Parts: sequence; structure tokens; C-alpha cells
Amino acid sequence: MLHKSIYKFILGHCIIATFIVPKILLAQDSQIFYFPEIVVIQEEGRALATIEEQTEAVLDQLGRELSDQGLEYSDVVVSNVFLKDTRDFQAMNAIYRTYFNVDAPTRATVQVDLFDPDALIQVSAVASKGPKTIIVPKGLKSPELPYSWGISVGNTLFISGATSRSPETYQPVPGDVGIQTRRVLGNVGLILQEAGMDFSDVVSCKVFLDDTRDFQAMNEAYMEFMPVDDPPARATVRAGLVNKIFSSEIQCVAEKSNDRRVISPTTSTRRRPFSPAIDSGNKLYVAGIVVGAENAVAETRAVMARIDSILNAGSRNLESIENMWVYLTDIRDAGDVLETLNEILGPNIPRPTIIGSPLMGRAKVEIQVVAGNIVKALEGFDQPKSNPILDVHVHAHRDIPNRSYCPNSGRIGLKTESGQPVCPTPLSPAQNGIDLMERTIAYLEEYNMYAIAMTQDYSQLQLWAENSHRIFPSIQTGVTDFEKNEVRQLVESGKVLAIGELMTQYEGVSPDSEEINKIWELAVTQDVPVGIHMSAPGAQLPQYVSRFGNPLLLEPVLSKYPKLRIYLMHAGWPFLEETVSILRQYPNVYVDISFINWQMPKNLFHDYLRDLVDYGFEERVMFGSDQTWPDAIPIAIENVESAEFLSAEQKDNIFLYNALRFFRIDQDRLGIQ
Ligand SMILES: [Zn+2]
Repeated sequence: MLHKSIYKFILGHCIIATFIVPKILLAQDSQIFYFPEIVVIQEEGRALATIEEQTEAVLDQLGRELSDQGLEYSDVVVSNVFLKDTRDFQAMNAIYRTYFNVDAPTRATVQVDLFDPDALIQVSAVASKGPKTIIVPKGLKSPELPYSWGISVGNTLFISGATSRSPETYQPVPGDVGIQTRRVLGNVGLILQEAGMDFSDVVSCKVFLDDTRDFQAMNEAYMEFMPVDDPPARATVRAGLVNKIFSSEIQCVAEKSNDRRVISPTTSTRRRPFSPAIDSGNKLYVAGIVVGAENAVAETRAVMARIDSILNAGSRNLESIENMWVYLTDIRDAGDVLETLNEILGPNIPRPTIIGSPLMGRAKVEIQVVAGNIVKALEGFDQPKSNPILDVHVHAHRDIPNRSYCPNSGRIGLKTESGQPVCPTPLSPAQNGIDLMERTIAYLEEYNMYAIAMTQDYSQLQLWAENSHRIFPSIQTGVTDFEKNEVRQLVESGKVLAIGELMTQYEGVSPDSEEINKIWELAVTQDVPVGIHMSAPGAQLPQYVSRFGNPLLLEPVLSKYPKLRIYLMHAGWPFLEETVSILRQYPNVYVDISFINWQMPKNLFHDYLRDLVDYGFEERVMFGSDQTWPDAIPIAIENVESAEFLSAEQKDNIFLYNALRFFRIDQDRLGIQ
């Protein structure tokens, strides 16, 4: 909608070069300055229609921005040239080389979709005040185009986007993507060597692939060169390359550092081609982050949440971001994405570089950032750190049900009646108990979450607690396996915080059945809370009885045991009125919003949640995920975060404070002051 106006408003984006853009915050440290995304399409009211005119105007504008910082063209060390059409490459070069005739900056030129429909060229640059060294590698023929192979400033080496060229002749070396990627990195190796470095010093790369189907083959070749334990952060996107022969172009930054380390909010057991982030001591280089969600705005929020957790793991925060690249599969999402970034980061965000370059998977938004050093981050730190999340419905099962779900669909099966798939990427359950544990704990770490973890087998709960300090054990049971599960012993010895998930509905036992009294009595005498499965999932299982999910059936229990602390799982969905009636009458009753917050269509979940809040129960609703399908966790969080009818305070209550009160967990235990 409001794309262009918002865009100008947010970024002070320079469309008319005849005025100087208002002073915007340029991210910088003592050495490195970023000049993102320069586009000029008009001058003195006249449209600039040719590539020559626009190239000249863009580089003039860069000159003005440089001089505002006391810099000159000769201080530019990197330029990224984005062309709407690679056929403009030669004409662009003819102008470009007049600005950078000696010791030209390193460069990468690719064809992407540009946000401004009239733009033919967009340039992002990096400059440095310090003395710089042009790297002229032995055995690698100097470029015939206006760029340098490498430039080092201080401990940092900027390397040009490399393509598959013969080191002796500079001529293109054809071949499949594997052959080409090896040639590309072979040349990068020569540049590193000349600068006294090797691949173990590379901190960050951007890979531009001509064809997304080449991704795996590129990866295999790429990993032969990169360090195994701490490969550089990386983003890979599709972009048109300047010569049709080329299938990949790789642009890297390397840094000599004694403090180099991988920063990751999660632990990975698998070897991966890139690290989530590399901390070089001076800067934190974060990989291109992608989180699938149902639209670009939701993805942007989820991506920024993940970037925030990575930055936190590296002792930084969102305010320490100095440079940001946003890759969009569909450039038409740019307006919405920028608006969302502005909402998250506030008005002083560094201008991002935004390009339309399809991502490798189905996602629409990928964001890659560089953050400044720790001292600066802490100085700029004036936002309170976000609270942890307490997930009150986490399963620690050993055996995993073999069911998949389409998120945000509400459907039971994966196919419609006519046999069409409901969604392209259903959420599969974890493969086994270990997979469930590892993936869940990874999410707990990543999102700073704590969990009420539940299963019937206490040894599983112990295993989880040994593997994470974020676990509060709760014993799951039905009435038939109550003795076998040693519920009484576990509760009486204080080994579990709660009883739940109570599985009576799956046993075909009504909530008001006297068979359950032994559990209610134990809970009341020991003063432990109980979570009872109510409705939502489970349909189509053999003994499951739908009407036993009706919360009104609990009424005799609640009047008989007025001290019983109980929470209705899945918020009693879809029995809204019945749930409200019970909540009104019995103040000890809480609800969790697990499962419905990722499996139901989001609008229906929002309607249900809004009704509960509008009825006045914002302090009785607790966040849960029911994460036997671990990738449901980020969706569940995002679907609450995106509830625009909730205030920040209401979200805090739902994500944390209501559960702390209900379970009587001391907030010190979660590291909150
Ligand atoms: Zn459950």
C-alpha cells in the first residue's frame, strides 16, 4: 500500500539528489562506515532514465554522504552494485571507473529486483578512515574491471565478490556449480594468503547463486574450504550474475582475531555449512536468518526475534546493529517489511540494504546483520531486556505419536476431501524422544524460555532436567496408569511441580467421574496444580470422547474441591462460553493456549484469545505450545506476538507472569530481578 511514502519516511531514502538527506544515524565504529542502499532516480525534478545518468547520480550522492563523514571516494573499501538488468553492466562500468580510477574498492555486482520500480542501479558501500592496503595476490591476475581483489583495513580484509575465473588469465572457467565454486574459493584462498590469512579467518560471506537448484552442490564444494568447527556466517540467495557462464559468486569478509568464536543461542550436533554468528571480538557477523511464517510481516518479526536472541548470546542487542541486509523473495513485500522493522527497531535503525533476491527455501524474508562491539552495545542499552517465556505445556515423551499437522489450518488430515494437500510443509512430530528433547531445548535456549515439561515416565523428566536448567517437571497421567506412573510418590516427595497432562479425555473418562477423585485429592492435599487435557487435539483417536472436553463437566469437581488449582489445556477450545462460565465462577481456574495457538487458523485463535481477554481473564491465560511438533514453538509464539489487540503488558502476563503466579514459581529462578 503506502510503500513509497513509508519507505521515504522510515529511511530518509534519497530519491531526489538535489537536497541533502536529513542527518540520519549512520552506524559506525572508529573505523568502518556503512552507506547502504543509494538510489537516485530524479535530479532537479527530472527523471533519470538511463543507466549512465543514474550511475553518475548515485555515485555523486555517495560522494556527498562520504564527505558528510569526512571521507572521500578513496576511503571506500567495498561497493555492492545492484543492477536491474545485467545488460547495463558495461555502461555502468564506463561511468563507475571514472569515480574509482586507482585502487578501486572491492566490489560485487549482481542483478536483483530493486524496490524502486524506476531504479536501474542501487549501490551499498563500506568505507574506512584508516590506512588501507590493496591486496594484489601473487598468482592471481589483476581484474580487468574497476575493482580490487582485496582491501585490508586494520585487522579486517574485504574481498571482492569472486566468480569462477582462471587465476592466470582472468577468463571465465566454465563447469558445473561444484567446479565453479571450487575455482571461486581457490581464488579467494589466494587473496587470503596474500593478506596473511586463511579460510579460518573468514567471518562472513554472501553467496549469490544463479540457480537455487545448485544449492546443495554449491554447499558441498563450499564446505571443503571452510573450517569445520566455526565456518563463517553466511547468507545465500538467488541473483543474476554478470556473465551467463557463472553459476555462483561469493563475497567474503575476513578478520584476524584472537577472540574469534561461534555465537549460537542453540547447540547443534550436526555439522553445518555456516555458523549462526561469528564474534571476532570487535564485531558480530550474523548469518542470514530465515524463519518461515505465513507472511512477510510475520517472518520479519520472527527473524528479528531470532536475531535478537543471537545478539544477546553474543552480549549485544538490537541496538548494536550497524549494518543490515534484507533479502526478499518478492520485492513487493519491502514496504511492509520496512514498516515492521521500524516498529521493532525504532526510528534510529541503520538504513538497511534491501534487495529482491529469491531465497533458497520457501521463506520470503532473510535478514543478515553486522553488530558493533560490546562496549558500544552496552552504552546504547536502555531498553529493558525482554522477559523469558514460560511454556506451561511441553511434552518430554519418549515415544512420539505419528501424526503431522498443517499449522494455522485447523484441519485434522493433511489432505482435503478432494485429495489436495492442505499445506506444503506440515509440521511433523519429532522423530523420537531424543530428537524431541534436543529440538525443544534448542528452542528454549533460543527464545529464552522455561518449560513445564510433562510425560508419564519420570526418568524422562529427569533426563530433560539433566540436559537443561529450563525444565520444571510435571507428571502426566490418566486414571488407569496413575499407580504405574507413581504419581502419588512423585508428588508427595516434591519431585514434580505439578500433575499433568491429565489424559482422562483420551481414556473416555468424564471430568466429573469419581474415578478421578484420587487425583484431585492428592493435588489438594499436596497443594500442587493440575493441568487437564480439554478438547482441541486428539479427535479421531479411539477412546476419545468429544463432549468430555466441555469445561462445565468440571463444575462438581471445582465445587467439591474449592482449593484445587487447575488449568484447562487448550483453553477449553472450542467451548468458549463454557470456559468463560467456569473462569467467572472459579478463580483458581486458569487456561493454557497450547495447540490452538499454532494449529487453528490464526484468525480463529485470535478471536478466541481476544474473547477471553475481553471477558476480563487476561491474568488467567498462560502460554503453552504442546510442542510434540517442535517447530510449532516459534509459530505459537509468533501467533501471540502478532495479536494486535494485546498490549505489551497483556503479552507479558500471558507469556510469563500468569504462569509464575499459578505455579508459584519464584521469578529469581528464571533470572529475573
Ligand atoms: Zn499435550
